[in-house]
Amino acid sequence: MTDARPTVWVLGDQLRRTAGVLADHTPGTCRVLLVESDSILGRHQWHRQRAHMVISAMRHFATELEAEGFDVDHRQAPTLAAGLRAHSDEFRVERVLATSPSSHDAVTRLEALGVELSTNTFFITDYRKFGEWADGRKRIRMEDFYRRQRIELDVLMDGDEPAGGTWNFDHENREPPPKDGRAWPTLELFPLDAIDCDVMTELEVNDDIALWGAAPDGRWPVTRAQALERLQRFVDEGLPGFGAHEDAMLAAEWKLAHSVLSSAMNIGLLDPMEVVRAAEVAYREGRAPINSVEGFIRQVMGWREYVWGLYWFFGPEYRAENQLEAHRPVPPSFTGDAPTEMACVSSVVQGIHDRAYAHHIERLMVIGNFSLLTGVDPWALTEWMWANFIDGAEWVMLPNVIGMALHADGGRMATKPYAAGGAYINKMSDHCKGCRFNPKKRTGDDACPFTSLYWDFLARNEHQLKGNARLGQQLAGMRRLADLEATRERAAEVLVGLDCGEL
Ligand SMILES: Cc1cc2nc3c(=O)[nH]c(=O)nc-3n(C[C@H](O)[C@H](O)[C@H](O)COP(=O)(O)OP(=O)(O)OC[C@H]3O[C@@H](n4cnc5c(N)ncnc54)[C@H](O)[C@@H]3O)c2cc1C
Ligand code: SF4
Repeated sequence: MTDARPTVWVLGDQLRRTAGVLADHTPGTCRVLLVESDSILGRHQWHRQRAHMVISAMRHFATELEAEGFDVDHRQAPTLAAGLRAHSDEFRVERVLATSPSSHDAVTRLEALGVELSTNTFFITDYRKFGEWADGRKRIRMEDFYRRQRIELDVLMDGDEPAGGTWNFDHENREPPPKDGRAWPTLELFPLDAIDCDVMTELEVNDDIALWGAAPDGRWPVTRAQALERLQRFVDEGLPGFGAHEDAMLAAEWKLAHSVLSSAMNIGLLDPMEVVRAAEVAYREGRAPINSVEGFIRQVMGWREYVWGLYWFFGPEYRAENQLEAHRPVPPSFTGDAPTEMACVSSVVQGIHDRAYAHHIERLMVIGNFSLLTGVDPWALTEWMWANFIDGAEWVMLPNVIGMALHADGGRMATKPYAAGGAYINKMSDHCKGCRFNPKKRTGDDACPFTSLYWDFLARNEHQLKGNARLGQQLAGMRRLADLEATRERAAEVLVGLDCGEL
């Protein structure tokens, strides 16, 4: 006999009771399916903390649904399709419902399996609405989208005016690191429970899974309760100081005042709108200043939603973009296969190893910038980050890596490449003072690799970049360099060293 109840299939990044198709169901009206797919786990060398977080969060969610009274079928299977087949055979299911997945491929796969998909409500804005807004625009500017969001959703608005009298506090939020030796908000680790420990053991003994990085230590929320606790702590302790030093980097401080909420939002534990509202309430109650609150809300309601919309708007072909024809593999100094004397890279890579995390400027101006300057293949970098960052997902990586960091889309997303030499890193961090290289030098053995490579990048890609008005000054500066030839020779040496794992 077939089961008259439909199955609600919950994917690993849809772990919230009140969103998506699960929100329309109560215990008894459906059976819930969760599938852990061996093929996904076998696809990459995953960071231990990332693999652990996703599986542990799925198992915790399944347990919570059971406690609420749902019939839950949580299974491991060679592939998602095999998991669904085994489930349908066992329970003789007629209809399978799911929330529309967050990647092009997954939508295609689930549709091919006959799963009925409903709108993805894990984001603030439906990507189809974003598409209508973006379509036909000459430039799809984040700032325009963000202001529209503020007005439409009535966030940080005083009537028709932006709270604080201006839309953008970026000029107050780009301060170098403070020199006052201040303490930054601390992060309490969550105790690992039996589910966490089982997942850790299973991952370690499975010969089909390649893992990298430090073991899980309770840093990343795996339940909604933990995620809410983290949000509250951030709003109370991190948000007031979030703005000013948002772009700063410190060797001894891994997150400064960043929220570290991305993983919880990306697997569905937190609703991005509740995150936005919590920050706004802190401002309205006088617990956090406008520059910090605006800066933070800009990230969540602006950048995050903009990136989500762009991913769908650009379509699956965006993956193959490589307009600067960059083909270098991910450097061994990133993957841990070779040490590096570049203090900034070494510090960020160590952080990724220890915590599966780097904050935005470390991702963009150290890892991304170095990859742009050396010509790392965009898809290779995307895959590496995807597997090693706690918050990795295709929808967020593609625009950020291919569009923003590597300018591989020829400027569809960012108007100019985020290319910079050692001077930027020296200004915004304390890395250079402990480094064997000199950020001011572009030639010689102690020349900073970023600095030599920056000028080489401009010279190498001049034909592609010369039409970009925003790069006019930099290109003119490059042409005026008396030692351009020697700088490029040094850059060539740097690249050889990089490829041999000797940089
Ligand atoms: C090369 C590169 C790769 C990135 N890869 C990822 C990724 O895999 N997953 C991911 O969630 N974010 C990614 N980002 C965006 C951003 O760096 C991270 O969201 C952020 O560093 C996460 O840390 P946090 O939660 O402490 O962020 P906070 O600094 O506290 O910011 C608050 C929130 O804003 C959102 N946000 C801020 N900037 C962006 C952005 N550019 N795109 C999307 N959301 C944003 C995030 O949800 C974040 O949690 C990437 C950025 C770059 C340049
Ligand atoms: S000198 Fe160059 S390589 Fe060294 S920390 Fe500074 S930017 Fe990085």
